[in-house]
Amino acid sequence: MKDRVLSGMRPTGKLHIGHFVGVLPNWKMLQDRYKCFFEIADWHALTDAYDRTHEMRDNVFNVVLDWLATGIDPEKSTFFVQSHVLQHAELHVLFSMLVSLSRLLRVPTFKEKIAELRVKELSHKAKKVLEKSADAAVSAFFEIVEQYQQGNLDDKSYRAVLKAKLKEAFMESLKDAFVGGEEEELPYGHLVNYGLLGYPVLQAADILIYRANLVPIGADQLPHLELTREIARRFNSLYGQVFPEVEPLLTEFPKVPGTDGRKMSKSYGNTIFISDPPDVIEQKIRHAYTDPAKIRKGDPGHPEGCPIFAYHKIFNTDEVPQIEADCKAGKLGCVDCKLRIIKKMNEVLEPVREKRRYFEERPHLVKEILAEGEKRAREEAEKTMQLVREAMQLWT
Ligand code: SF4
Repeated sequence: MKDRVLSGMRPTGKLHIGHFVGVLPNWKMLQDRYKCFFEIADWHALTDAYDRTHEMRDNVFNVVLDWLATGIDPEKSTFFVQSHVLQHAELHVLFSMLVSLSRLLRVPTFKEKIAELRVKELSHKAKKVLEKSADAAVSAFFEIVEQYQQGNLDDKSYRAVLKAKLKEAFMESLKDAFVGGEEEELPYGHLVNYGLLGYPVLQAADILIYRANLVPIGADQLPHLELTREIARRFNSLYGQVFPEVEPLLTEFPKVPGTDGRKMSKSYGNTIFISDPPDVIEQKIRHAYTDPAKIRKGDPGHPEGCPIFAYHKIFNTDEVPQIEADCKAGKLGCVDCKLRIIKKMNEVLEPVREKRRYFEERPHLVKEILAEGEKRAREEAEKTMQLVREAMQLWT
């Protein structure tokens, strides 16, 4: 029997060139070697987009278009929307009995999320303190000026009174922002929903419902997979062997910077989407960050920190040594360098955009492809659930 692979993406909208050179070519390679299940994880997306569900259908559609356009083949792999295969939820509930709360609280991504939310909340509170203190300071200032003008305060005392008033106002604002409310057993627990805590259990269900034994991941995701392995072992030891030992397919993805030099991310507004038309790509590249030390063509540049150079390494590999040398020697200007990458990027992306347009204009085809994938996924998932219910001696 062929090894089984499970991988997925959260539908957060159109995919960018980081996906184009990272996860998608990897999936193309995997679909030729293994029995692959590719999931659009819409329930996972809800953990922090539960108040933006109106975007979900478009986002799912865009992800499928990008998959199809870049060669993820529905004949070779099974792809589906997570929420259309309800067996994921059933297995998630059963698995949630096998994991302790303390184990979930130790999951590194959960701890990172809490830290991120703490920073957000603290900066929000600090802003409130500053705003309130500023208002109070202005009122105190005018009150003291009035008292001074009325002769109630002399030259020496007004400074001390003003200082005391400002301190009092600041302390009041601090107290309002940081003191009060009920003591929580889990600090900052009010900032996260139950779904976020249970996220890795749902992930374990996503993988094990297809009895997948391989999961392509980066090294930083290993702790998540470890939890899946623990759940499978615990289930097998309690109820009998149903699930395989899941192994990571460790994958190194090339790092693609955004147009501002930071990590490419929609939240930074620095992405180049696979589906961006040529004029949009041109605008994005023309406004992109380059080496700030290179102001004129003749200035020697530092290509290693420049996102345009990183794009040449991906889309224009043949010219990379020459561009690197010319940039460093001050023989190449940033405008010319950008024009070259615009041309190359558009050459590479045009056939992808064309294929995407084909499916975009035929949404019924996309629906049929998804429906067929979901049918196959449901059949596999139901087979596993029958084994699970039987092993657990549940009412059937
Ligand atoms: S010449 Fe090219 S690689 Fe060098 S700094 Fe300018 S844009 Fe970047």
